[in-house]
Amino acid sequence: MNTTASLDGLVNGLVIGGEIVETKQSFGVINPATGEVFAQAPAASPEDLEAALRAADEAFVPWREDEQVRRTALHAAADALEAATDRLATVLTAEQGKPLADSATEVAVAAMWLRYYAELDLKPEVVQDDDQGYAEVQRRPLGVVGAITPWNFPLTLAVWKIAPALRAGNTLVVKPSPYTPLATLVLADVLRQVLPAGVLNVVTGEDGADPLGARLVEHPLVRKVSFTGSTATGKRVMAAAATDLKRVTLELGGNDPAIVLPGTPIEQIAPTLFWGAFGNNGQICLATKRVYVHSSQRDALVDALAQIADSIVVDEGTVPGAQLGPLNNEPQWKRVTGLVEDAVSRGARVAAGGRPLDRPGYFYAPTILTDIEDGTALVDEEQFGPALPVIAYDEVDDAVARANRSNYGLTASVWSEDPNEAAKIAEQVDAGQVSINVHGGAVRPDLPFGGHKWSGIGVENGPWGLYGFTELRVIAGPPRRG
Ligand code: NAD
Repeated sequence: MNTTASLDGLVNGLVIGGEIVETKQSFGVINPATGEVFAQAPAASPEDLEAALRAADEAFVPWREDEQVRRTALHAAADALEAATDRLATVLTAEQGKPLADSATEVAVAAMWLRYYAELDLKPEVVQDDDQGYAEVQRRPLGVVGAITPWNFPLTLAVWKIAPALRAGNTLVVKPSPYTPLATLVLADVLRQVLPAGVLNVVTGEDGADPLGARLVEHPLVRKVSFTGSTATGKRVMAAAATDLKRVTLELGGNDPAIVLPGTPIEQIAPTLFWGAFGNNGQICLATKRVYVHSSQRDALVDALAQIADSIVVDEGTVPGAQLGPLNNEPQWKRVTGLVEDAVSRGARVAAGGRPLDRPGYFYAPTILTDIEDGTALVDEEQFGPALPVIAYDEVDDAVARANRSNYGLTASVWSEDPNEAAKIAEQVDAGQVSINVHGGAVRPDLPFGGHKWSGIGVENGPWGLYGFTELRVIAGPPRRG
């Protein structure tokens, strides 16, 4: 099936001030299933970016005034997204590569987040209300938010910023990845039907010598930067934001360990463990990226995971039954290829996959590697792809120490027949979330998600994520009458 067949839902410009704004320049967007350019995306000029920020700035004061208007608008946004699921999913699969069902799930998750924040209370806290005086603490919106997103979950991760930022009373300029600009433009086109003009603007452009994202971060109208992407870019964003004391939230890379405790029933956990690593082709910040298993069970786990890996249907995302699509882009595909080759050259054994698929596009066979140790790049670095190292340990303490010996600390998981025992080990793991007998099980609208160490600063989701889009203001004075 040709992915380009039904792409009539594309937007032919930026979304600024509630309008579609055509640009002078454009850039090609590649379908990762073919490796060919299938559409053009608008390239925002400095004037376009200025216009988007001015639109957000002008919309800010009226938008922050009425909380009930914002709650109602977020519900309407959720309904509008759901109604546009097919249009959004088709564009997302064409530019991102994931199976259509997974693209539709992104839309559903986005709608869930919008509804969660529509319902969440953000009330002032009254600290004193007596005959001596009155004092309350309020959470005020910051102003214009610059939101920058990566290519792995363009819709979900944009809405993780849009929903709480709007709920708190901010306005936004969103900048998606140049690999996946189109679905985010469609998202904004859908939402401009239900949101006041200017509260949500989307600009797209290329990286390279003068990335649009860098221009957004540097702009004086931006009061808060909410960034999701690699640790390397996140450090640049934080440095640039510092010159203007902008607030930042950084959701960055991870190298998540899964620790399988001795005696865990391998056949039982293998499918869940597999999908914790290979969902979205391993292109999830919080995917399992290395597995530590007791040496007595290493072979059983490797065999079980390899069997699943060999059974996975890898195909174009539009093909019914495809479980995994291609990787999103050529540099990422080459990186995974290189990491596996490097591991094999150092003695790692390929139990499944181990190579790109012999077809156009950026397809790679789901890969299980073992006879591999810490110190190999595939173990120490973030692979962000479908290649999982399974590492044997003899002592649990040693496995925990190796899991923690990383600059990253996003999420982790501990697996055991005994959840209490797993919980004891979870207490020792240095990560923003540690799940038991599942990986990423705490990614929910109502729980904070954020990384330790190089995995980020601040959190998204829950009331804590909402607070990140606010600043405290105290109003204090004499006792209030009545
Ligand atoms: P990336 O850092 O290359 O790009 C992310 C975004 O930053 C893109 O929109 C890009 O255009 C923009 N950008 C590039 N240079 C910039 C600059 N100088 N200033 C501002 N913005 C700039 O990341 P990626 O390759 O798109 O995404 C993959 C990475 O994202 C992985 O490391 C993954 O772990 C991470 N990620 C983290 C989370 C999380 O929540 N922690 C979620 C998803 C992905």
